[in-house]
Amino acid sequence: MANKGKLYVIAAPSGAGKTSLVKAMVQSTPHVKVSVSHTTRPIRPGETDGMNYHFTSQEIFLELMNRGQFLEHAEVFGNYYGTSEAWVRAQLDSGEDVILEIDWQGAQQVRKLMPEAVSIFILPPSKEALRERLIGRGTDDMEVIERRLNQAVNEMSHYGEFDYLVINDEFDLALRDLQTIIRSRRLSISWMQHYKSDLIEGLLN
Ligand code: 5GP
Repeated sequence: MANKGKLYVIAAPSGAGKTSLVKAMVQSTPHVKVSVSHTTRPIRPGETDGMNYHFTSQEIFLELMNRGQFLEHAEVFGNYYGTSEAWVRAQLDSGEDVILEIDWQGAQQVRKLMPEAVSIFILPPSKEALRERLIGRGTDDMEVIERRLNQAVNEMSHYGEFDYLVINDEFDLALRDLQTIIRSRRLSISWMQHYKSDLIEGLLN
C-alpha cells in the first residue's frame, strides 16, 4: 500500500542554514515531522539528546546497523549517522509527512529504497557567506571549519541529484520556497484523498 504521508529528504552543506529552515518549516506547517537521527558524534553545547540527535556509542550504533534498524546510514566527518526506519515508516503510515535532514550519501540510499521521496538541496548564497556562517556558529575551531568548508564543496557537488534547489540568501524567502514545495505536493490527489476525503465524498454522493 502506498504511504499516506510523504517523505522529504533535505540536504545541504553544513552552514547553509538547513536546521533553522527545517525548524521554522515544521513550526509553520501541520502534519510534518523531522526524523531525529542516531549519531556517534559528540554532543555540542546547546544540543539535547533525543531532540537534536539520539547520541549513541559506536558499539550501539553498529549493533543497530547490523540489526537492519536504519533506513539509511553514512559516515560523515568520521562519525556515523543513521535514520530509524521503524519511526519513519510509522509516521508515513499515520499520514504524517516526514523530513530527513541527511547528507548526500544517505539521500542516494533513500532514493533507491523509496523513489517516491522528494529531495531538496539547500545552497548558501556564496562561499563567503558559508565561511562566515561556519565561523559565526562558534562551536568548532578553525581547523574544523576549514575541513568543513572543503567537505561543503564536496557535499554541494551533489546538488544535481536532487529534485529541488533552494538558495538560502534571505531566510524568509528560502522558508517560503520550502513551504511552496510541500504545499504543492499536498495538492496531489493522494494527499487530498487522505485529508479531504469527507469533502470529496460529500461532493460526489
Ligand atoms: P552535524 O553533525 O553537523 O549535525 O551533521 C553533519 C552532517 O551529517 C550533515 O550533513 C547532516 O545532514 C548529516 N546527517 C545528520 N543526520 C544524518 C543521518 O541520519 N544520515 C545521514 N546520512 N546524514 C546525516
